Amino acid sequence: MNILITGGAGFIGSHLCRWFLNQGHRVVCVDNFITGSKDNVRALFEDANFRFIEHDISGPLEIKENIDQVLHFASLASPKFYIKYPIKTLKSGLLGTHNCLGLAKVKKAKFILASTSEIYGDPLVHPQTEEYWGNVNIAGPRGCYDESKRGAESLTYAYMREHNLDVRVARIFNTYGPYMRPDDGRVVSNFIVQALKQENLTVYGKGKQTRSFCYIDDLVEGISKLMESDYKLPVNLGTVFEFKVIELAELVLKLTNSASKIEFLPLPEDDPKQRKPDISKARKILNWQPSIFLEEGLKKTIEYFVKIINN
Ligand code: NAD
Ligand code: UDP
Repeated sequence: MNILITGGAGFIGSHLCRWFLNQGHRVVCVDNFITGSKDNVRALFEDANFRFIEHDISGPLEIKENIDQVLHFASLASPKFYIKYPIKTLKSGLLGTHNCLGLAKVKKAKFILASTSEIYGDPLVHPQTEEYWGNVNIAGPRGCYDESKRGAESLTYAYMREHNLDVRVARIFNTYGPYMRPDDGRVVSNFIVQALKQENLTVYGKGKQTRSFCYIDDLVEGISKLMESDYKLPVNLGTVFEFKVIELAELVLKLTNSASKIEFLPLPEDDPKQRKPDISKARKILNWQPSIFLEEGLKKTIEYFVKIINN
């Protein structure tokens, strides 16, 4: 198959490029490097089945070749970056998704949207099921990201209903692993890099807020299974093992043998207090659940950052 992956030079996108190339497919990777990096896909440039297009997906994209699947992963994804670039975030979620859906329609391709647990906002239902409609502060600092993805989901279902497009929506919960940026700003990369540099670990608030951290290999398998399935409605992908942020900090300190201290900083506005997916749907429909425990995934991620930081 010919597979188009937007955001392919980012963290998840670059893993998807490698996964689909390894399965014998051709990959067209589209990215504008706003947060992604050429280093994430540099090794793939030698592969004859890999093509790279530097392009901002907020503008229309014309592709001559046949495309069988469109994976739309381009977005600002870390609070650090989407709070800095709220307009670009909304543009890649709304205009970018519109462009990708239009392309999928012309090519008669299957389409998948990388949606997010953030569409549930600061959730009042726990764990979050796909049926929960969410609690988002539209005008708050995270609203640009949350609403860009909520709008992107609506656009996706509009194309399904009006144009009979074959669509999938993955609601991805916190995912981590190698190929994250060291300065990405998200909690796992922040804590590991800080611990390795013997700097203070910056815990926001009292660190009592929770997240459920999924290792990248599990997520990629989930996305691949969702693409293979016939299921068109949103599916949560993530792990059900929930940790307090302070517990994550302590685990990172232990695994890195670091002498760093924990520093408490103010909790950012609208930071969700708790997050854990209900993955009954993914279990039943995709026969999927994550298999990599946090400690194991963190060890692999630490190995990666040790190499990056020493380079
Ligand atoms: P990332 O920042 O590493 O990757 C995003 C990529 O998209 C980057 O390479 C960036 O340069 C590119 N990009 C952004 N705007 C673009 C544009 N307008 N045109 C072209 N390229 C553009 O982030 P990630 O964690 O790999 O996230 C990938 C996708 O998964 C995003 O859509 C994100 O919303 C979604 N997601 C990620 C997580 C997670 O925990 N990692 C959780 C939920 C959803
Ligand atoms: N966080 C933290 N210290 C950091 C970065 C993040 O305590 O250096 C917290 C953040 O406040 C949030 C959680 O870790 O409660 C996860 O943050 P992240 O930015 O990784 O993703 P989010 O789930 O909020 O989108």
